Amino acid sequence: MISAGEVHVPGLPTDRIGTIAMAIAAQRSFSNDRPSGIKMEAGAPLLNDEFTDQDFAEMVALGINQLGEVGIGPVKSVSRAAELVKIARKHGMTSITHTGGPSISTSQRMGAEQILEIAPDIIGHINGGYTALAPNQIRCLCEGCLGALEIVHNGNEFAAVTTLNYAREMNQLDRIVIGTDSPAGCGVPALGMLRAIALLSSFGDVPPEKAVCFATGNTAKVRKLNRGILKIGREADILIACGPLGGAEPSVLGSFSSGDLPSITSILIDGRLVVRQSKNSPPPSVTPEITLRT
Ligand SMILES: [Zn+2]
Repeated sequence: MISAGEVHVPGLPTDRIGTIAMAIAAQRSFSNDRPSGIKMEAGAPLLNDEFTDQDFAEMVALGINQLGEVGIGPVKSVSRAAELVKIARKHGMTSITHTGGPSISTSQRMGAEQILEIAPDIIGHINGGYTALAPNQIRCLCEGCLGALEIVHNGNEFAAVTTLNYAREMNQLDRIVIGTDSPAGCGVPALGMLRAIALLSSFGDVPPEKAVCFATGNTAKVRKLNRGILKIGREADILIACGPLGGAEPSVLGSFSSGDLPSITSILIDGRLVVRQSKNSPPPSVTPEITLRT
């Protein structure tokens, strides 16, 4: 799981030192205690007008590798935000924007013009974190910005498919990444990533194996994570799934193509079995057996 900023913490500090402290506290907290064993990339500071070059260097040295959504928080000037993103990038931090209409009181509308000036690594929730941009603005971002195109579950489904179509037209499906943009007004829906994969596979008519790559390898690439790809030397974080009991399509990929979700039968983190049969996903069409190697 990857934080886009700890923006919903009650009483979130907005001063320079408080923002840095908050990011470090979040990063340390989730490193020390991993809920259900998940790897949480937490600690994503919102930009602050007072940040210096030295602040970014120190944050990176302390393990903060990503910014929270640019467009939320105290920095209101787009040119100042662009300047700060450039400095963050120089130190190796990944940047992401808020995109579309405001979602919370401290966010502002972020249209194509603002995002092109900021030039983030990831155009966050390009299909709206509540309210999406118009299709011509989305096209402008796909064509004019080199950043990854994040399609989220808690967004506008029409804008999600519109973005997918533009990326396909441009032969740039490798830019698409999937997120949930949760928590949001609609909460933290279970299975958000899988639902977004199913949306793009069914309504978006993209091969399901490619839609899975949006959520795994593409994300790992832009976030510089040593996981998300099955390869020797990568962290062995693996979902094992099968078709859902009673589904129209018996296979995992077929269930995505038909808009259904597969059954997650096992979750391995660092090669160790941590979940045996997800209770959130549907029951499996085949009960998996685990055989211990002797
Ligand atoms: Zn946002």
